[in-house]
Amino acid sequence: MRKRAESLAILQSLRSVLTEPAVLHAPSFEGNEWLYVKECLDTGWVSSAGSYVERFEAMLAKYTGARRAVAVVNGTAALHICMLLAGVKKNDEVLIPSLTFVATANAVSYCGALPHFIECAEESLGVDPAKLESHLQRIAEVRADGTYNRTTGRRIGAVVPMHTFGHPVDLDTLAEVCRRFQLELLEDAAESLGSCYKGRHTGTFGRASALSFNGNKVITTGGGGAILTNDDEFADAAKHLTTTAKLPHRWEFVHDLIGYNYRMPNINAALGCAQLEQLPGFIEQKRSLAGLYRTAFEGAAGVRFFSEAPYARSNYWLNALILEESRVDLRDEILELTNQEGIMTRPVWTPLHLLPIYSGCPRMELPVTESLGRRVINIPSSPGLGKGGSPCP
Ligand SMILES: *Cc1c(COP(=O)(O)O)cnc(C)c1O
Repeated sequence: MRKRAESLAILQSLRSVLTEPAVLHAPSFEGNEWLYVKECLDTGWVSSAGSYVERFEAMLAKYTGARRAVAVVNGTAALHICMLLAGVKKNDEVLIPSLTFVATANAVSYCGALPHFIECAEESLGVDPAKLESHLQRIAEVRADGTYNRTTGRRIGAVVPMHTFGHPVDLDTLAEVCRRFQLELLEDAAESLGSCYKGRHTGTFGRASALSFNGNKVITTGGGGAILTNDDEFADAAKHLTTTAKLPHRWEFVHDLIGYNYRMPNINAALGCAQLEQLPGFIEQKRSLAGLYRTAFEGAAGVRFFSEAPYARSNYWLNALILEESRVDLRDEILELTNQEGIMTRPVWTPLHLLPIYSGCPRMELPVTESLGRRVINIPSSPGLGKGGSPCP
């Protein structure tokens, strides 16, 4: 009985914010999308040439404060290129959270390297710098040619934190740990466009970072991604490697590396320019929705609404409820009740070390990750939700 009553109370709190059925995250196209995409169609510049790609890159750099942005086909490709250019090699290990979307680990695998799973912090839902540090003190050895995992003998290629649901990890502390152990820091900022850490945009703290513009992200290009970096050489190399490593020439086809066809098509970039123009407004709306949820769940039994850390200003890409440890048994009932009512909710990803494809990888103890894996529920988060009225024009 307790269980049923508590689940219904959570449904009730959600209903007090959402006046109608809602999906988890719907894109919003109310700006110049039609205009810019039409221009691509009218001029025939839909693909690998056209002005929108460069325009989108310049807009991204300006918005994030990164020196350079390189637009690519998706966030996974952006991660792959970041790792390759940061020097991740075959048989390396790459330190990543276990609580992340599978793409973070897949990009490591594409380099022929192995994910090495790191514990996350309950306060950020991302990599826990203190636990990473004590783990490294146990296993890492800094040698002349790199930092090695003493227990496996493999080199550690990089550390790749991920800003879960848009909430920044403690970047200053993490960057300090990376410096101490001479490890490259790359950010998986796929979910955190518009999120800042102590007034500075996420994705600008390490050597480079990856953004995603998939259909469910804060802004979308249909499918797309970008690499951010403050390093011109890194950016030039990323551009080269993602455009088949072709040397510029008026007619000759000369390629000086085995490159990738990872370039973002112009028609996707056109969509991106229109979306980026609206991003400040989206974030305002998303933060206001988060405020409504926070109020609705104040004092709720057995559950809390996840709020940003004091150092952060989050985009609240996906809002999340966290069940108390003693209420884990409510999760499936809440998922059942809400989805039945047309309020789309989802559990967090299965921690990657529990997937058979990655269960053999090196890792530290992951009790917080495993616990959060059972207690997180994502709730509707589209911009414009929760205004208390019909959005019909
Ligand atoms: C969305 C996402 C990606 C991958 O982005 P795609 O554009 O879908 O390839 C990578 N990492 C995280 C954490 C993501 O949420």
